[in-house]
Amino acid sequence: MKETVKTSRTAGYLEKIFRALNAKYFGGQLEEPIITIQSTPRAYGHVTVAKAWHKGTTTRHELNIGAGTLDRPIENVVATMLHECVHLWNMQNGVKDCSRGGAYHNKKFRDAATARDLDISYDPRIGWSITQPTDALCVIIPGFFEPPVRILRATIPENESHAFR
Ligand SMILES: [Zn+2]
Repeated sequence: MKETVKTSRTAGYLEKIFRALNAKYFGGQLEEPIITIQSTPRAYGHVTVAKAWHKGTTTRHELNIGAGTLDRPIENVVATMLHECVHLWNMQNGVKDCSRGGAYHNKKFRDAATARDLDISYDPRIGWSITQPTDALCVIIPGFFEPPVRILRATIPENESHAFR
């Protein structure tokens, strides 16, 4: 029960980050996804192409942050969230930014991401996908956070804490 409470608090915190990034980098125009915290194999996060979540007549994309990756520095968690937001933005605007089943990121992804304070580098297998926060992104982070990093850390199951190191 205690875990559930903490997880929902973490999800609420991630929603706050999403809203702040949406306002800052997308003019508040991003459709709100359902934010989840599950494990994402071989990645820090994902967004679903399909609007996997239904509520009444409304459907939403899923934006997941890997449960085992929440103990990274907050700047990196925010950079992952922003990376996934760029995918959402591109989907919303009919821009195809990936191929090979979503693994390979093309230059359209790179350009949309670098325009929003992400530092993107290339890997032959996954394309322009490797994501680091820039100083410009780090500067805005203290403005929209309380200090919830300890809460994030506390929710990581022991057996997942080594997943992506
Ligand atoms: Zn991606």
